[in-house]
Amino acid sequence: MSDLVIRNIGTIASGDIHAPIAAGDTIVVRDGLIASVGDGGDADGISVVIDAAGATVVPGLCDNHTHPVLGDYTPLQQQLDWIDSYLHGGVTTMLSAGEPHLPGRPTDPAGVKALAILAHRSFTNLRPSGVKVHAGAVLLEAGLTEADFAEMAAAGVRLVGEIGISGVKDPDTAAQMARWAQASGMKVMVHTGGASIPGSGIIGADFVVAVKPDVAAHTNGGPTALPLADVERILDETDARVEIVHNGNVKAAGEVAALVAGRDELHRLVVGTDSPAGSGVQPLGMLRTMSFVAALGGVAPELAVAAASGNVASLHGLNVGVVEPGREADLLVIDAPLGSQAGDALGALAIGDTPAVAFAIIDGQPRFTKSRNTPPAMRPIAFSS
Ligand SMILES: [Zn+2]
Repeated sequence: MSDLVIRNIGTIASGDIHAPIAAGDTIVVRDGLIASVGDGGDADGISVVIDAAGATVVPGLCDNHTHPVLGDYTPLQQQLDWIDSYLHGGVTTMLSAGEPHLPGRPTDPAGVKALAILAHRSFTNLRPSGVKVHAGAVLLEAGLTEADFAEMAAAGVRLVGEIGISGVKDPDTAAQMARWAQASGMKVMVHTGGASIPGSGIIGADFVVAVKPDVAAHTNGGPTALPLADVERILDETDARVEIVHNGNVKAAGEVAALVAGRDELHRLVVGTDSPAGSGVQPLGMLRTMSFVAALGGVAPELAVAAASGNVASLHGLNVGVVEPGREADLLVIDAPLGSQAGDALGALAIGDTPAVAFAIIDGQPRFTKSRNTPPAMRPIAFSS
């Protein structure tokens, strides 16, 4: 846990969808938590200083849709250190949408239960490169009982992975299990659109309306998009968050974002990558998806930031994702990339450029002082300690 001050901030995009720009030029962090946001602030005794040189600060990004397995390794793409690479794309929190890529994944009740508990426990004890990975998202299989959900919840499992990519395909069984899970405090996600990996199915609005999940996953496709009219029905007939992901249909990403914005329901929009997947590993997937939402969906970039941070934190009840006193100090200093036609990070998102990440801070601790994956920043952002 660390103390830190960020000075000379040009813009603070707060991550709060209802107040997306925070006033002030200084953020003070004490003991890993945000102590103050505004002009000046009490930075007495703090030696770690970032001079943002007029750049932008946003919350660390919260990827609502990842498929981790164990540690910083993805078996699907035979790749190590993918989570560290995502940190270099601004991701400080990840939510699992299931661990289907485990080699030899079990499909019996005892097996899926054990896997969810193991993944949850493992990532509770492990923070790859500091990233907060919330894993252990049970994938539904026939035979799971109400008592099984209570047992998993008691062991800390808080997520039901994408319904539709595992054995339970009929809406009645899925709805019954979703009720048991939600009664145990779990958040339930339903896959939507076309099939993804072998074993997954095609899911439209009828299924989502029957199951009433907390999240309709990748409504722009994972990877194949469902009709926009189905997204509209999901918005009309359920309370679910609607998700836009990197590994979907790019045109549909813009259409869904514009639809949700036009209904004045951007508090229901959450952003993820849906990775690792067949489309690979995308360290900049969150930043790029935010640029799709802003540039193709016509959504104000600070609202795209909130959909990729505060909205996800609010969905899962996490004390991250918003730049305000008392929150865990997971912060990014971002800027227009060198050579961009935009003047700052939000302007870059608005024209479809990927911002530069100059600093990623987790719990008040700078994890790096220059992203190895984004372009360099336009401004001379400086660090002293
Ligand atoms: Zn999916």
